[in-house]
Amino acid sequence: MQILDKSFEVFITGDEIQKEVKSLGETISEDYADKEVVFVAVLNGAFMFAADLMKTITCDSAISFVKMSSYHGTQSKGSVDELIGLNIDLKDKHVIIIEDIVDTGITIDKIVSFIESHGVASMRICTLLFKPSSFQGKNYPEYVGFSIPDAFVVGYGLDYDEKGRNLDAIYQIRN
Ligand code: 5GP
Repeated sequence: MQILDKSFEVFITGDEIQKEVKSLGETISEDYADKEVVFVAVLNGAFMFAADLMKTITCDSAISFVKMSSYHGTQSKGSVDELIGLNIDLKDKHVIIIEDIVDTGITIDKIVSFIESHGVASMRICTLLFKPSSFQGKNYPEYVGFSIPDAFVVGYGLDYDEKGRNLDAIYQIRN
């Protein structure tokens, strides 16, 4: 399959993804059976994973969609990261962050410090994909769909230059 200038091949089929998402949802629902959980899904990449995962959740839950954004301050040089879109009060809540992929861990570490600053009761990370060989972060994901090698993937929410997010399978770049 060709996306823009790059060639990709199927890596994880749509059926395999759906099976794993259902299993993750069942595990989370059991772990939080007697609690209320607030899911914080990170846009854009996690939109499809979050939608499918939420359909399998049976415990008391709410969801908010956030985005990491960097803006150029008027006073300081360089850009400052912020987390935008949070519309639920996280104080004393049990939070699960939903990510599409954790690679180096830099992004998730930033998101975690934003979430923790809200005085949450607990916080865990759920990611569909994890690249352990490139991970250098502080916050390991507790719920992982697939651990994958360090190669570029697209599909099921993940993009190559904004293309490929609609694909129901995950494709790996062909070298
Ligand atoms: P980090 O390196 O901070 O863990 O990941 C940063 C971001 O890079 C991820 O949230 C994701 O948007 C993007 N990313 C990392 N690896 C891949 C990949 O294989 N494919 C795509 N499409 N995006 C990736």
